[in-house]
Amino acid sequence: MESIKSAFRHLTLEDLREWAGSKIFDRGKGYIKRVSQPSRTDNGHLVAWVKGTDQYATWVRYEEGGNFEHGCTCPYNDWGPCKHTVAVVLAAADRLKEGSDLRRLMEVLADLEGRSKTPLLK
Ligand SMILES: [Zn+2]
Repeated sequence: MESIKSAFRHLTLEDLREWAGSKIFDRGKGYIKRVSQPSRTDNGHLVAWVKGTDQYATWVRYEEGGNFEHGCTCPYNDWGPCKHTVAVVLAAADRLKEGSDLRRLMEVLADLEGRSKTPLLK
């Protein structure tokens, strides 16, 4: 069974920003701390809870070649992903890569912004 780390292994910060758009991407970064219980489903979806105005269930799946699928129970209703989806990916990247220290994550993000084509979970 494919792990989240391996399912998302090619995803870069630039991919994520491109997919979500800069505005949603930046808002998502502010929600990283609100993500709880990230886990994966049998078919490779990354799922988690995000606390916003309400508690939302969010899932995202990334396939090699740059295809994303996503869903969220929040009221955001645009064509693209919401900030919760972005936050879930970033929070999972943090936990898989560096543990859950947020300050460390921000350093990692700052570092990644400088070389945004590096896979997030490498
Ligand atoms: Zn949402």
